[in-house]
Amino acid sequence: GGTAGLVCVAGLGISGRAAARRLAEAGCEVIVLESRDGEAQRAAAADLAGLGVRVRFGPPRLPEGVSLVVTSPGWRPDHPALTAATGAGIEVIGEVELAWRLRSSGAAPWLALTGTNGKTTTVRMLTAMLAAAGHRALAVGNVGTPVIEAVDGPYDVLAVELSSFQLHWSSSLAPRAAAVLNVAPDHLDWHGSMDAYAQAKGRVFASAPVLVFNADDPWPVRLAEPYSGARRVGFTMGSPRPGRLGVVDDVLVDRAFTAGSAYEAEELATLADIRSPAPHNVSNALAAAALARAHGIPATAVRQGLAGHVPDPHRIAHVAGIDGVDYVDDSKATNPHAAAASLAAYRSVVWIAGGQLKGAEVDDLVRQAASRLRGAVLLGVDRERIREALERFAPNVPIVEVADRESGVMERVVTEAARLAASGDTVLLAPAAASLDMFTGYGERGDAFARAVLALPATRPGHG
Ligand code: ADP
Repeated sequence: GGTAGLVCVAGLGISGRAAARRLAEAGCEVIVLESRDGEAQRAAAADLAGLGVRVRFGPPRLPEGVSLVVTSPGWRPDHPALTAATGAGIEVIGEVELAWRLRSSGAAPWLALTGTNGKTTTVRMLTAMLAAAGHRALAVGNVGTPVIEAVDGPYDVLAVELSSFQLHWSSSLAPRAAAVLNVAPDHLDWHGSMDAYAQAKGRVFASAPVLVFNADDPWPVRLAEPYSGARRVGFTMGSPRPGRLGVVDDVLVDRAFTAGSAYEAEELATLADIRSPAPHNVSNALAAAALARAHGIPATAVRQGLAGHVPDPHRIAHVAGIDGVDYVDDSKATNPHAAAASLAAYRSVVWIAGGQLKGAEVDDLVRQAASRLRGAVLLGVDRERIREALERFAPNVPIVEVADRESGVMERVVTEAARLAASGDTVLLAPAAASLDMFTGYGERGDAFARAVLALPATRPGHG
């Protein structure tokens, strides 16, 4: 028995396990609820049993006597156990909020960021900049390592990637600086509405002294507005006005954190320092630079960090060039806003799309991309929705649909895409949708794509 009473943890996921472990170490009595009863779950439960943590399998129901619930992104806010808790006046928080509350007084400050897209790329760029300046920095949160495992680790500063789910269940985070990269429809099924989703993202600003916002995107601008007491720093792909970061003649410039006279423009890096070819990564680089500069990082380290940043897999990854056609894996484009960004990076595209749209609309995406599309190959559960949009806004674009249950779906998809492509085109996997209807995740989807591409015959019969 501990001082904090009984804590209930939702699920044996990565963050649930980490939270349970840390709570047990802190002397709390812990029960984890887990509905899946498989080998991996049993192993995790046995592991936690050593710490005195109980795991209850079966349909999740709130145990008696709980004083706090630590929930996980896998549970929607309307989950019966969660509504039962809030109905009974029991506080519900997420693992990130728990980490914030349990950190020691001398713990490393946080530089936090959120956004619909570009979070992982930005948090990696930021970490590279911090490291280039000699700081012991780690990327944590939604990017992989649970915050609670790193919060009291041997670091000078943490670069914290936060999802809308994590922010929804956070209430007291006070990062040294916080950024909102962009906001576009995603996860609407979880949050219930676009407004609720955007407001969840905006919570990252609640207690930060420096707010970094994308000045080119109306949502981040709006989300920063209420905090007139904070320092608000915008970034733009265009020429920045005083107090902002932006781009002038292929140079990333800072007019917010300059050491010299107020609002002098300081050169940070050039576009050539950004290794990814995709224009949206300029926006990510500016966001990372703004957070780094808020933490006092010099321009030289910003440039070094950008030059040394290596994109994570499945983010605009070039797989192969075959018969003059480039094959690009952007499996991580799991929503329409991300797919729009990657489609905009190419001139003539055979687009591979489809999966779970999570309640998002694709009309705008298809309208914007129509003139660049040479063809489309559709897969996954919501492929009909994309086909309808294509028929309306890009009626001349040939479409091939591949049914989910066919074996070797991705081989079919890639073969059809190769058939539609001509020399000079790009075959782009940018599905605009989640993958869980057919794959274990975007990683498996991207790997299947790459395998199928590498198995293509170099010279296609009938195309001589
Ligand atoms: P997240 O962690 O938010 O999912 P990633 O950095 O992993 O973001 O990028 C995911 C995908 O989102 C990329 O593969 C690309 O398609 C798209 N993307 C990245 N940055 C941006 C951006 N700034 N704006 C729009 N789309 C982006």
